[in-house]
Parts: sequence; structure tokens; C-alpha cells
Amino acid sequence: MTKEVRTRYAPSPTGYMHIGNLRSAIFEYLAARINGGKFILRIEDTDQARIVEGAVEVIYRTLKTIGIRHDEGPDIGGGYGPYVQSERKDIYLPHALQLVETGHAYYCFCTRDRLDALRSEAEARGVQYKYDRHCLGMPVQDILRRIKDGEDYVIRQKAPDSGTTSFHDEVYGDITVNNENLEDQILIKSDGFPTYNFANVIDDHTMNITHILRGSEYLSSTPKFIHLYEAFGWELPVFAHLPLVIKSDGSKISKRNGDAMFDDMIREGYLPEAILNYTVLLGWSPGDEREFFTLAELEKEFTLKGISKSPSTLDYDKLKWMNGEYIRKMPPDEFAAIAEPWISKGLAGENLDIGKIAHMIQKRVVLLGEIPDSIGFLVNAGPVDPSLYENYKMKCDAGLAQEILPMALKALSGLSEWSHDSIYNSMAAAAAAAGMKNGQVMWPVRIALTALAVTPGGAVEIAEIIGKEETLSRIRSAIKQLEA
Ligand code: GLU
Repeated sequence: MTKEVRTRYAPSPTGYMHIGNLRSAIFEYLAARINGGKFILRIEDTDQARIVEGAVEVIYRTLKTIGIRHDEGPDIGGGYGPYVQSERKDIYLPHALQLVETGHAYYCFCTRDRLDALRSEAEARGVQYKYDRHCLGMPVQDILRRIKDGEDYVIRQKAPDSGTTSFHDEVYGDITVNNENLEDQILIKSDGFPTYNFANVIDDHTMNITHILRGSEYLSSTPKFIHLYEAFGWELPVFAHLPLVIKSDGSKISKRNGDAMFDDMIREGYLPEAILNYTVLLGWSPGDEREFFTLAELEKEFTLKGISKSPSTLDYDKLKWMNGEYIRKMPPDEFAAIAEPWISKGLAGENLDIGKIAHMIQKRVVLLGEIPDSIGFLVNAGPVDPSLYENYKMKCDAGLAQEILPMALKALSGLSEWSHDSIYNSMAAAAAAAGMKNGQVMWPVRIALTALAVTPGGAVEIAEIIGKEETLSRIRSAIKQLEA
């Protein structure tokens, strides 16, 4: 029987979630789903000093918004709990003691002063600091006495100091490192807490994790993890390290700088489906030209082989474009519902038909956050700059607008019914009567109604939305401005 695939997303609640964190979560989730396995959420809070209040809630909320469900986790439990490291404290020390017994770890009583001196000395010699194993081989009775005397101690791993360590990474291939530079890392700190590196390995093993996907910043620590697995005689999981996500200036995205935060993206009006789709393409490709994927499709198509090792650049233009495409594909009712708060904000209390506005802008908007500003003209249109009437293709300019606008005004004033079709037909008839193309009439009317070169809708849609009275009044004042 093949082993059940179990993956985990193991965030440290040290800040908000950026797109790199989110990518780890999504890839771990997909790696479980494509294999019919389990996806586990584990909170890694060993570094209590770095915990940021509210960060755990952000993690839950983000996963939920994106549509990722975990099968086990702090909130829903499971057979391998607890799922929060600070609640697993009792699990780590016995494991460390087991390594002491088998000679893979040892007690160290070195004081901070001594370690600082070692560090300064290494620095002065221009060599990399490495603990000098002063406490390795200490007689048991000395250890017991010093513990009894209340001296502070840590437990260190005895790492190999010669030879090489080789391992396979699903993304980076076969990797071999020299053991010479490996440090005897601390496993249990003097306060009894495990170090991050130790807790991470113990948890992955005791939670039966089979596949570990995480940022490539952990690649260099992997030999240390591997030595722990080996010291315990445990089977190694599959490792897949994910490429860096960099900004367009080449720098790494970072939590500390508040880069590429998921919450900010939602606030700016990116759709969760678009963020999900875009994030998956940061370092993964289906092996063909396709770019659009729903979560359900990814659950069937994702492969570790599709992950690339070259850094992926976070390209907001592409994300925006993709967001626009998602908006275009939405059923109109659904779009109207999500656009409603943004439209209301843009209307600032003005009572216009939100459904019609949503219908108009769905064809052009790329970011929900741009909606309020982009529809401000519906409420207030400033004086029209005469140069806006110039349009080479429509052969229009301010002079021609002076002829066309009164014509349009006349046609529209006569309408008893104010609908998209009636507005369109009356302007088309006016154009035909004057021997002009429809566009030649629509263009100056749209400029007169909006005072803008670019608007998220055409003359007819805008006229319908702002209503007859306002349409006529705006055309009248545009005519006056041209006469002045
Ligand atoms: N707690 C680590 C982080 O938030 C996760 C590392 C891992 O997945 O092993 O970056």
C-alpha cells in the first residue's frame, strides 16, 4: 500500500501574508490534492518574541478567501495535534534527550560571554564562526552536577564535520554540500524551548509529513534537517524548494517591508481568483501556453515537475491584466454584487442606477479599487477642454462639435422614453440626417457629458445612467462653453 501523501503549510505568525507565503500554502495544498492526500495547517510560533498579534487570524482568513481548506489544523483538530508549536513543547525535549543518548547531541554549558568571545575571535581572523565543541565529551557526572547546580545549558546537535551531505530536491535537483561548515546547532534553548530548526523537523516527522514545499531560503538549512532525520533513523520526506519571488527592481519581497501583502491586494480590488491564478504562475507552469486556471483545475493539473528554480518576478501589470480578464469573465450579476460597494463610494450619495453602472464598467475596469475615481464624472463633470473634441479618426474638433452638439441636444430633448435604445436611435437618426457616421455624433456628445478623454463607457450608456435632465444640461453648458 502506498503511503498517504501529507503536506503542510507551516507559517510563523510573524506578520501579514505576502504573495510568497500564499504561494507556499497553495503549492502545499495542491501537492496534497493531486495525490488525494491531506493538507495540514501548523502554526510555527517557537519564536515567541517575533509573534505579531492578529497574524494567525490573517492566515485563516487568507486561506478561506482563496478557497483553500485544510484537513487538519489548530481550529479543526486532527489525529496529529496539537497543531501549534507552543502547545507541543513537551514533545521536543524527549526527542532531544534521545539524541543525547545515541550520541547525536550533547549538553552545552558555554556562557554567552564565551560564545561572544569565540565569535569575535573568528571575526578577527576573518573566518566563519563555528562552535568549537568545547562541551562535547563532557563526563556524565559533570553534566549532572552542573545541571543540579542550576547552570544554564542548551542541547546541541553533533553534526558531522567532515565528508559531504547529499540530498535530492524536486526542484533544485541533486545537491551536495561540504559538512565542514555545518555548525553544531542548538536544538533546545536554555529556556527549554526548541529552536525553530529542531521543532520543524520533529513536527514534520511526528505529523507524518511526506512532502515539504517551502521557500528556497530554507534550502541551505536542509542538510541540517537531513542530519536530524538520519540521527533518528527516520525516513526522509520529499523536498521541493520554491524559487524566490522578487520585485521588478530585483529585490526580494519581504514581510518586513510590507511587500505584496494579500490583504492590501484585496483592499485595492484584486479578485481572490485572479490572485490565486497569478500566484500559482509565480514559479509554476503547466508545460504549455495556458495561463488561466481555477482552483478546481489546478487540483487536477498541478505537478512538482512544473516548478521552476529561476526567480519569479512579481509583475503587477500582469496581475492587473489578469484581474481585468477575470472581471470580464464574471457573470454580470456577480460582478454587480462585488462592484456595488466600490460604485457606491464613487457615487458619494448620488442616486444613480448601480446595476447599469456595473454593466457599463465591467467591460473596461481592471481593478475594483479604480472604480470610485473612474466613475466620478457621473456625479460631477468639470468644464470641457475644447481640445478634447479633437479626434482625427472621427474627423472631429471643437468647430464641428459646435455644430453637432445642438443637433444632438435637439434629438435627445424630443425623447419621451429614456432608454439605451431610444437614446442610441435618436442620435443615430440625427447622424444619418446630417450625413455623418454615428461615431461622429457620439464622440463630441461623450466629451460634452464627461469632460474626459477616456471614460469607462460610451455616450449612450453614460447618458442613460445620468438621466435625461442631466444629459441635456451638460450638453447645453458644453455648447455655451464653446460659444464663449
Ligand atoms: N515557519 C516557516 C515560515 O513561515 C515555514 C518553513 C517550512 O515550511 O518549513 O517561513
